[in-house]
Amino acid sequence: MPREGDQLLSINHVDKVFGETVVALRDMTLGVREGDFLSLLGPSGCGKSTALRLIAGLLHPTKGNIRWSVGDSSDKLGVVFQEPTLMPWATIEDNVWLPMRLKGTAKKSVAADIQEALDLVGLTGFENAYPRELSGGMKMRVSIARAMVTRPKLILMDEPFAALDEITRFKLNNDLLEMKERIGCTVIFVTHSVFESVFLSNRIVVMAARPGRVIEELEINSPYPRNDQFRTSAEYAKYCRATSDALQAAMGVGIH
Ligand code: ADP
Ligand code: MG
Repeated sequence: MPREGDQLLSINHVDKVFGETVVALRDMTLGVREGDFLSLLGPSGCGKSTALRLIAGLLHPTKGNIRWSVGDSSDKLGVVFQEPTLMPWATIEDNVWLPMRLKGTAKKSVAADIQEALDLVGLTGFENAYPRELSGGMKMRVSIARAMVTRPKLILMDEPFAALDEITRFKLNNDLLEMKERIGCTVIFVTHSVFESVFLSNRIVVMAARPGRVIEELEINSPYPRNDQFRTSAEYAKYCRATSDALQAAMGVGIH
């Protein structure tokens, strides 16, 4: 069963309008609980990235608000984008050090944290390699290590595995759940893959476009840990079907 954690943050009747007319999000309301693995699932243009950027504080709501249960969001967030966005001239270790370096922290004093983050994503031994020497999946692992190295309470991930081949994606899905368990964080994950969202999440928020909005929320009540056995189970297939139906319905809305 999904854990019924304390509320971490709430999104309250949020609208985001770009310019005069582009309604990227309309009346979004959502509570995020500690320990949730929550996916935002929907077609391109339904406001998934806008929602993440609002939560990250990179954008501000046109209407409504986002409230954190304790203090504000600073120091509580890690972000992973679709592109790994690594610095090509810096070693893997230095790439992972970046969020701390930006705060003026010497590498020596956080060497153990950097090592632990690299261990967590399975990249022990690659400390002194450069991004160009790594595969796409490994670069994404570095990006995840960089997001997790400060042990944030909440990790935001925007279609992080969309550009990877299916086998690499499955492996990263498995490993991501294990990493989440190990560091005990909350994850908000953007995807347009039904299969990926069901595998990972205890909650799926289905969204529709024009205007971007929440259509339905589904609970995936299968226990963790989940592994390849879950991926081939009847229960997984059942949830995929229900989620796919919800997404089809969401995409049908507004098309005439
Ligand atoms: P998704 O991530 O689900 O594909 P987005 O959140 O990127 O959707 O975009 C939602 C809508 O808002 C789209 O119509 C998009 O074109 C528009 N949009 C997003 N960012 C901006 C921006 N900075 N300026 C103008 N329109 C934007
Ligand atoms: Mg997007």
